[in-house]
Amino acid sequence: MKMFCYQCEQTAKGTGCNVSGVCGKKPEVAALQDIILHQLYALGYCAHQKRQQGKKDDEIDRFVVEALFSTVTNVNFDFERLKQIIRNADELKGKAEKDLRGPVPKSVAFFPAQTDDELIAQGTELGILNTHSNEDIRSLQHLLTYGLKGMAAYADHALILGETDDTIFSFFHEALAFLNKPDPTVDELVGLCLRCGEMNVRTMEILDDAHTGHFGHPEPTQVSTVRKPGPAIVVSGHDLPDLEALLKQTEGTGVNVYTHGEMLPAHGYPGLKKYPHLAGHFGTAWQNQQKEFDGAPAAFLFTTNCIQKPRSSYIDRVFTTGLVAWPGVSHVDKRDFTSVIEKAKALGGFEAREGGKLMTGFGHNAVLGVADKVVDAVKNGAIRHFFLVGGCDGAKPGRNYYTEFVEKAPKDTVIMTLACGKFRFNHLDIGDIGGIPRLLDIGQCNDSYSAIKIAQALSEAFNCGINELPLSLILSWYEQKAVVILLSLLYLGIKNIRLGPTLPAFISPNILSFLVKNYGIAPIDEPQKDLDTLLS
Ligand code: SF4
Repeated sequence: MKMFCYQCEQTAKGTGCNVSGVCGKKPEVAALQDIILHQLYALGYCAHQKRQQGKKDDEIDRFVVEALFSTVTNVNFDFERLKQIIRNADELKGKAEKDLRGPVPKSVAFFPAQTDDELIAQGTELGILNTHSNEDIRSLQHLLTYGLKGMAAYADHALILGETDDTIFSFFHEALAFLNKPDPTVDELVGLCLRCGEMNVRTMEILDDAHTGHFGHPEPTQVSTVRKPGPAIVVSGHDLPDLEALLKQTEGTGVNVYTHGEMLPAHGYPGLKKYPHLAGHFGTAWQNQQKEFDGAPAAFLFTTNCIQKPRSSYIDRVFTTGLVAWPGVSHVDKRDFTSVIEKAKALGGFEAREGGKLMTGFGHNAVLGVADKVVDAVKNGAIRHFFLVGGCDGAKPGRNYYTEFVEKAPKDTVIMTLACGKFRFNHLDIGDIGGIPRLLDIGQCNDSYSAIKIAQALSEAFNCGINELPLSLILSWYEQKAVVILLSLLYLGIKNIRLGPTLPAFISPNILSFLVKNYGIAPIDEPQKDLDTLLS
C-alpha cells in the first residue's frame, strides 16, 4: 500500500514518507487523513458559500477546526476514530450542500466509501494523485494547507476556553474553499499564505487572552525536576484546561501531577501553580518519551499532539484525551480522569529521586513588567543582542545546533525561548545580566504571541521597526504549528530568520528562492558562524 506525506520535518529521507510514517502513521491512517482533508475542502466551500448568503454554521465552524487539528503530526493515529470524523464530515456536508448555488468542485461531489478497503483506496488515490502538476503551485497549496492545520490547533485551544473570533472561522472557510480552485496563481496563493499568517496572529492573540484570562498572567517560576515519593500522573501536550481538571480531580487523593514536554510552562500560571500537588516536571521533549516513560511507574496523559507509538512495556499506563488517539490506548472523554487516577494509584508511583530546577513563566506581562530595566540595559551596552531561539524539538542529531548556539552566545546576549526546542538548553545555567536572566522561557509554542508582543514593545521603546532591533530569530521547526508561526512572522515582515534543522520538503526551489529574496530566510549553518554573522 502506498502513502505520501511530507508535512513535518522528520519526513523520510527529507523528501516524504511513502512506505509508513516516521512518526508511526500507517498508510491506512494516512489514507483516512487525506480523505478528511479533501472533505474539509468541501466543507470550507459549503461554509464559505453559505456565509456569502449571510448564513453561518456553528457546527461546521467547530468541526473544521477540530478535524484540521486531528490531521496535525502526532495527534490522531486511530483508524476507527478517523473513520468517525469522515462519517461526521459527510453528514455535515449533506446538510450544508442544500444551500449551494452553481457548479460544485469535485471535493463536494465526493462521497466516502462504505467499507474500510474502499475507503483506504479512495484516500490513497486522493493523497498521491490529487496534487497540482506545477511544483510551485503545489508547494504553496501545501504551505497554506499546513498553515491552516497549525492555526486550527491554536484556534481549538482558544475555543475550548470559550474564546473565538468569527473572522477566524470565516478565513478558514475562505482558504479551504480556495484550495478547490483547479488553477490558482502563485500570487493568489502567496497572498492567502500571508493572510493565514495574519489570521494566526489574531488566533494566538485570543488564545493568549483565553489563557491569561482563565489562569492569570504567567510569573517567573522555578520548577522542580525532583521526584516525590508516591503515585504520579505525568501530563503531556499543551491543553491547560485538561491539566486544571486533572489537578482538581486529584486534590486530596495523594496523587502527584507532573508536567511533561510542552506542559512545563503551566507551572508559571497562578491558576495552576496554586495546586500543591502540581509536583514538578518530568522528562524532556516529546521525542524522548519512549525512553523516559519506559519503566516509570506513573500514568501518562496526552492532551494534544506529541504522542509517539507507546512501547508495549508501558502502553497500559498511557491515556489520551481530546483529539489525541492511538489504537489500543485508553481514551478519556469529557475530562473524567477517574481511570487515570486509579491507574496511578495502582502503580504505586515514584520513589524519591533527586533532581534539579528549570525556570519558566517569562510571558509578555512578566518581561514587559521590567521593560525599563531591559531598555536601560540595551542603552548602556550591558545587553548587546537578543536571540529568540525557539520552536519544536525533534530526534535529528542536527538539533544539537541549538544547544551549541546557546552555549556559545556571548555573555552580553539574552536568549528568549519558547516551545519544546528549549529542552536542548534549558538545563544550562547561563547566568544573568544585571539581574535579568539570560535565558527567558516565554512558554509553549501556543505562547508565540507573547514573543511577538515583546518584540513589538521593544520596537516601540527604541522607536524603530522590529527588523532594526538587536534581535535575531533562530527557529527550529517540526510540525504544522511551526509552519503557521513562520507564516505569521512573514506577515509581520520579520526578516533574516534562521530556520532548521532542515528546510521543509514541501517548499519547492523557486518558492525557497522567493523566501530568501524577499525575507532573507536562511538555513542554519554552524552555530559560531551564525553568531558571528548575526552579531556583525
Ligand atoms: S507526519 Fe511527518 S513523519 Fe508522519 S507521515 Fe507525515 S511526514 Fe512522515
